[in-house]
Amino acid sequence: MIELRSDTFTQPTSPMLDAMMQAKVGDDVFMEDETVLALEAQTAAYFGMPAGLFCPSGTMTNQIAIKCHTQPGQEVICDELSHIYQYEAGGIAFNSGCSVRLLHGEQGRLTAAQVENAINPNDIHKAPSSLVSLENTVNRGGGACYNFAEIERIADVCRRHGLPLHLDGARLWNALVAKPETALQYGQVFHSISVCYSKGMGAPVGSVLLGDEVLVQKARRIRKVLGGGMRQAGYLAAACLYALENHLPQLAIDHAHAQATALVLAQQSWVAKVLPVETNIVIFELPEAVAAATVVEQLKAAGVLVLAMAPQAIRMVFHLGVASEAAAQLNDTIVKLKL
Ligand SMILES: *Cc1c(COP(=O)(O)O)cnc(C)c1O
Repeated sequence: MIELRSDTFTQPTSPMLDAMMQAKVGDDVFMEDETVLALEAQTAAYFGMPAGLFCPSGTMTNQIAIKCHTQPGQEVICDELSHIYQYEAGGIAFNSGCSVRLLHGEQGRLTAAQVENAINPNDIHKAPSSLVSLENTVNRGGGACYNFAEIERIADVCRRHGLPLHLDGARLWNALVAKPETALQYGQVFHSISVCYSKGMGAPVGSVLLGDEVLVQKARRIRKVLGGGMRQAGYLAAACLYALENHLPQLAIDHAHAQATALVLAQQSWVAKVLPVETNIVIFELPEAVAAATVVEQLKAAGVLVLAMAPQAIRMVFHLGVASEAAAQLNDTIVKLKL
């Protein structure tokens, strides 16, 4: 089967498994797991940020960041497509007791003007705005990347209003490969960044929350409250370190595969629209007469697994488990579908 439902389906490669088996581990709740400490330090250094915290999921790193930046009764500003709102099980309310101000951006990308307009005035009727959260790349936006200049303008709005700025960078790696900006530039504009190693980077488990020492110290306590303090977690961190050292350049191959498939899809009569492809995600819409469920079924029968995002929309995600031969085979399969 060609697995395109998500880049979370990657299997650890044999050298990654070797790195895991050879990891030196300790009790990470006691901060004595040298592999976890190395992953936290190396990820932080990569983005030029002071400190990092290893967590079992990107949901946890995001939720911890939101908890660190807010008090109950305050409000978080984000796009309506945001993972923190759509796919974290109501965690903003559950964990932080905050309301959410949802904005309608372009493929999930906000502008500085939108953010500025959404900041509540100091009025007793209003929840105090206390955090702005961006996502890059935008999962539900078809892997869309921000223009870095717009991020800088948003950071400027946040500075003027004294608001922290968080980045859900589950796929920030893909944006770094697709765009000219460096990791260090990202580290300079955000108060906290969450990155995932378990998506296109190919590790089985693991995310890191980045921030300054004070934030990460607070985050460590919240991770413990949530039950995310792990013991010999170095076996997992070793996979992430391996990914950081080896898997970044190959994301460009996933992007090329996504581009090629988007072109093929755009030529099919049963495809209404393909969202612009910048990274490893292809989202396409179907005409009214074609149900996503039908396309999912037919592709499955032809050996391709994809995800219906809506009754008329499908997502394909490319990753290191999809080799070039499989990517070519996929395009042949698409052309042959009878819908
Ligand atoms: C996958 C993802 C996360 C985190 O998901 P987990 O499955 O909890 O690791 C966060 N944000 C975005 C945009 C994602 O795609």
